Amino acid sequence: MTQKKINPKRQAEKDLKDAARMKQMSEAVERRPLPHLISAGDLKHCSVCGYPFKPDVQPSMSAAFADHMRKTHNPGQTSEDANP
Ligand SMILES: [Zn+2]
Repeated sequence: MTQKKINPKRQAEKDLKDAARMKQMSEAVERRPLPHLISAGDLKHCSVCGYPFKPDVQPSMSAAFADHMRKTHNPGQTSEDANP
């Protein structure tokens, strides 16, 4: 007696997302989405932890964000052996 509603359209969207995710999963072990920048007025925020970036951050927004990702979220895109 299950009362699951299966919406075919949603299922199709889910399949698409799953397919896209599978590609990422083959690289990334964890399921969480990749961090990205969210604009909020003058500031930008990390989508994952909300860390704010000033618009005049040095040396550049993308560099600061890449640094933040590396230090805080460690996406593991490199095969660097950081663990002792
Ligand atoms: Zn963050």
